[in-house]
Amino acid sequence: MPPSPRLLVLTAHPDDPEVYAGGLICGYRSLGREVKLVSVTDGGAGHQEKTAAELAPLRRAEAAAAGAVVGASYEVWEFPDGRLLPTLEVRERIIREIRAFRADLVLTHRTCDYHPDHRAVAQAVQDASYLVTVPAVVTETPALRRGPVVAYLPDLFERPAPLRADRVIDVTPHLDTIVRMLTCHASQVFEWLPYQANTLDTVPTVPEERLPWVKEWFVEQIRPWANRYRDAMVAAFGESDGQATDLVEIFEISEYGRQPNAALLDELFPLSIDPMTR
Ligand SMILES: [Zn+2]
Repeated sequence: MPPSPRLLVLTAHPDDPEVYAGGLICGYRSLGREVKLVSVTDGGAGHQEKTAAELAPLRRAEAAAAGAVVGASYEVWEFPDGRLLPTLEVRERIIREIRAFRADLVLTHRTCDYHPDHRAVAQAVQDASYLVTVPAVVTETPALRRGPVVAYLPDLFERPAPLRADRVIDVTPHLDTIVRMLTCHASQVFEWLPYQANTLDTVPTVPEERLPWVKEWFVEQIRPWANRYRDAMVAAFGESDGQATDLVEIFEISEYGRQPNAALLDELFPLSIDPMTR
């Protein structure tokens, strides 16, 4: 039997993996599959008061705690937050990572994302997608005979093209676990993000109110994906379930990685974690 697929999530910031792919991450782990989450930057720019020197170690610890919730390794690299460029150094680090982890599926941002760090990671992953199979590049880590499937994380940006819904996953069964992961990023969900959204005065002070508060925030964050991709959901889940489901993740397969057939797509985005699919 072939080994179980391995998922590598390459994002710009600690907390991006959960926000954009928490459901798929939880689904993989619930099937006992290996998952590795990577933040290419140190997250040091994500606070209104703390300096990068104060914040970066804190975010590394928050990420480790979030990974522990699902038993996934969660690495935070040292590139400075808010200053990432798709340099050779970043590209080659990503090539090494994809090879060493033996990823079958790599998830990343799109190059038309709003955040320059997201765009830089996206570009570097695109640049690495083919080169992971070239032995003469990054010679100290053996090249892969076959590169991974690369897929883009959900977003709502429309120029030059909206995300194509190649795969739709119902994440409702994993909502509570995603929220537990997100809650580990306390410097973000209770401090920086509410500061940016001008909602700091609504952050609960009572510990037992914090988890439900994050859940409500997260549901509001991802509900627009379902509203935008309703047609794809109806196609995937059928009319009544497609209309009723509000919590989904949507993925587009990159042209630059391995091109999966239908059977491989089903394996990489397994139906067993998608109870609404018929
Ligand atoms: Zn980010």
